[in-house]
Amino acid sequence: MQRVVVVGGGAGGLELVTKLSRFCRKHSHVEVILVDKVRTHVWKPLLHEVAAGVINKSSDGIDYRMHASRNKYEFQQGTFIGMDAQKQHITLAALDDDEGQQILPERQLAYDILVLAIGSVSNDFGTPGVKEHSYFLDSLAQAERFHRALLNQLLKVNQPGPEQHHLKISIVGAGATGTELAAQLHHVANLSRAYGMPTMSAERLQVSIIEAGPRILPALPERIANSAKSALEKLGVQLLENTKVIRAEAGGFVTSDDRLIEADLMVWSAGVKAPDFIKDLDLFETNRAQQILVNSYLQSKSDQRIYVLGDCCACMLPNGNWVPPRAQSAHQMASTVYKNIVNGIQGVPLTDFAYSDYGSLIHLSKYSTVGSLMGNLSNRSMFIEGKLARLVYVSLYSMHQLAVHGWLKGMLVMLSRKVGNLVSAKLKLH
Ligand SMILES: Cc1cc2nc3c(=O)[nH]c(=O)nc-3n(C[C@H](O)[C@H](O)[C@H](O)COP(=O)(O)OP(=O)(O)OC[C@H]3O[C@@H](n4cnc5c(N)ncnc54)[C@H](O)[C@@H]3O)c2cc1C
Repeated sequence: MQRVVVVGGGAGGLELVTKLSRFCRKHSHVEVILVDKVRTHVWKPLLHEVAAGVINKSSDGIDYRMHASRNKYEFQQGTFIGMDAQKQHITLAALDDDEGQQILPERQLAYDILVLAIGSVSNDFGTPGVKEHSYFLDSLAQAERFHRALLNQLLKVNQPGPEQHHLKISIVGAGATGTELAAQLHHVANLSRAYGMPTMSAERLQVSIIEAGPRILPALPERIANSAKSALEKLGVQLLENTKVIRAEAGGFVTSDDRLIEADLMVWSAGVKAPDFIKDLDLFETNRAQQILVNSYLQSKSDQRIYVLGDCCACMLPNGNWVPPRAQSAHQMASTVYKNIVNGIQGVPLTDFAYSDYGSLIHLSKYSTVGSLMGNLSNRSMFIEGKLARLVYVSLYSMHQLAVHGWLKGMLVMLSRKVGNLVSAKLKLH
């Protein structure tokens, strides 16, 4: 019996176990176990929409246990905290309930092949006060926590009184997450008027995006950034470029020129790194973002029985850059890791990973969608915007749904989501 253990059921990991489970049905000597620290999968690029409250986890979440039972693989809930590469086992932390009572003790899980797909966390670059005062959008729990705080602030601002207060939200990092969240917040402020907050509107919302670099969307082509910039400025979003945050405190972010950018809610979305404990394991070669260095087959450079994919993987492109931490990278890496696990089991030569950049899209709520198709790397990119860009943006999520549900069920899930959107509130109010 060959046991494949996949740690992390995110954008890449869940697609991988779905494919592997189909292979295992025909090859009974292979078993697949998925480990994740949480019970429900939500595609991470949706988290800013969860945070704003424009989508609901009950329509977009996938229960791992249900998915495992339908696809005939095993799911174990647990947090990966360590491993012994010689003995080929990983260690999962004890599982406690909300009251701190132990449900499962710390335990070990043996593997023949291990896949690490544990994603990334926000990088605060050690900036003082950020952990204590900011919200992050690294997980569903964090996005939901921000959403509850947002609802409370909307209620507060809506109170009648002689003074018209504004709700101030500051976001550090003008990448896709920061810019898309800003536009969604504008939309939500207007929506809240229809849901019992008559004096609230986008005019009473002040969103600032603080970016240390010279322009917003630094990883994307300038044309996309310019188009997104003018859309955000039309919404009244304050864009503070070339502005470095040196500290966060209860009332806002402090910049290197000693300015306080006041905020009722503070969000940090300025770059990502692999989780800190990866480095502490002292087993892997890592880069500056703590991602694990891999060979061309996506095996860890220090152990060929360990594959790494997605945001926690450091895979170098021919031009010397790293494969970017994106859903499309995790998706492509999951396909290569699948092929290589199957080839390895069948004694066939492994395939090299080749990253294709299919472009990037920025979806600014209902206001604008802009992006490029066919690759920023090759300089052959085609600029798109409007309805076509929106269609391509939506199709990225559809591809993930088809990959994890299969065609028939995937289409039914998409249809039920559409119907759900028609009948449910446009803003999640709890
Ligand atoms: C708000 C937001 C918007 C984004 N928008 C886009 C976009 O438009 N386009 C795009 O291409 N990319 C986007 N991204 C980036 C994209 O979401 C990630 O690149 C992608 O999800 C990475 O996939 P992954 O499988 O590596 O990790 P993830 O999808 O993050 O999955 C990691 C999984 O590992 C689990 N896990 C973590 N640690 C442990 C542990 N110790 N033990 C057990 N399980 C663990 C987590 O619970 C999770 O299920 C966005 C990201 C965010 C936050």
